[in-house]
Amino acid sequence: MIPISSKLPEVGTNIFTIMSGLAVEHGAINLGQGFPDFPMDGRLHDAVYEAMRNGHNQYAPMAGHLPLNASIAEKIFLSYGQTVDPRSEITITPGGTYAIYTAFTTILQPGDEVIVFEPCYDSYIPNIEVNGARAVRIPLTLPDFRINWDAVRASINEKTRAIIINSPHNPTGTMLRASDLETLDRITRDTRIMVVSDEVYEHMTYDGRSHESVLKYPRLFERSFVCFSFGKVYHCTGWKMGYCIAPEPLMSEFRKIHQFNAFSCNMPQQVALASLLKDRSSYLELGPFLQQKRDLFISLMKDTRFDLLPVEGSYFMCATYNRISDASDMDFAMKLTRETGVAVIPLSAFYLEKQDTKTIRFCFCKKTETLEIAARKLAQL
Ligand code: PMP
Repeated sequence: MIPISSKLPEVGTNIFTIMSGLAVEHGAINLGQGFPDFPMDGRLHDAVYEAMRNGHNQYAPMAGHLPLNASIAEKIFLSYGQTVDPRSEITITPGGTYAIYTAFTTILQPGDEVIVFEPCYDSYIPNIEVNGARAVRIPLTLPDFRINWDAVRASINEKTRAIIINSPHNPTGTMLRASDLETLDRITRDTRIMVVSDEVYEHMTYDGRSHESVLKYPRLFERSFVCFSFGKVYHCTGWKMGYCIAPEPLMSEFRKIHQFNAFSCNMPQQVALASLLKDRSSYLELGPFLQQKRDLFISLMKDTRFDLLPVEGSYFMCATYNRISDASDMDFAMKLTRETGVAVIPLSAFYLEKQDTKTIRFCFCKKTETLEIAARKLAQL
């Protein structure tokens, strides 16, 4: 075997793969990985089939099928009041994760630093490190997982090249406030710091809260790559379809990376998404729909000894289990999957150094029946 020197020596198999595998092995209910267990909108698969029958089966344009980019531009204007050019400022990508990776690859040089807030989605730090840059990790402040902007100011130096934000937040379900975005704008003004904004849960907001997109802040948008996922919005995570929005000069550099990587994305799906996206209710109904699931899960979990943390957005809910066990969150999650039959994700997986806050994450984007069975099992503890 010819040895290779690993670009990510510390990285193993990610937690979602491990826990979903364990769930299958033990026949456990999977409240771990973030995906629904109910069907997607039938209009979408019919439209994909029709697109294939109509011959949309060859390479899509590199930046995306223009009617889809145009539908996105319209949605962005209606949602956030920002005008974006469908031809030069939007690129369709194979998923939100790819959009984030490509944004980092576009801007980072070896030795650069990127500010990351922990806990965070587990792709961010490897994406930064594979580009030879360094993640500067700042913990979100407990108990409500907010950004400590004084710590951000103190971490900025001449190497700081980017800050990544994520709202609504995976794994904690918190959302950034207008004041957070205003502070980010003030801090980055007159610097060369770029913003990567992960907004894949943009429509999953509850209790009348609205999503604070960087697209609502024109000066902030000038330095931003904003990343989205159709998989999350239309219950089709297996499609791995998303998009990135950035001002033209940034997007043209992004496309230099994208065109020699994926080059373009699944054409029949783009044709289908272009038409569904025009129906605003197809994404505006997502919040109320998931709020019902959140509230159902909260009421079902009253019969358990878990202590649930508040959820403002996303389809995740964290819980502590001090009244049940003093095991580490990893051991507890494994045991829950193997012995209780409910798979969850330990929060330590979202920290580079695997900090154990004795907290686990549930995904409540599941059928009523699934949530009921899971809660019954959890009530036995
Ligand atoms: N960002 C966050 C915070 C996520 O939770 C996910 C999905 N797990 C993504 C990005 C990626 O979405 P996609 O499946 O479209 O790559």
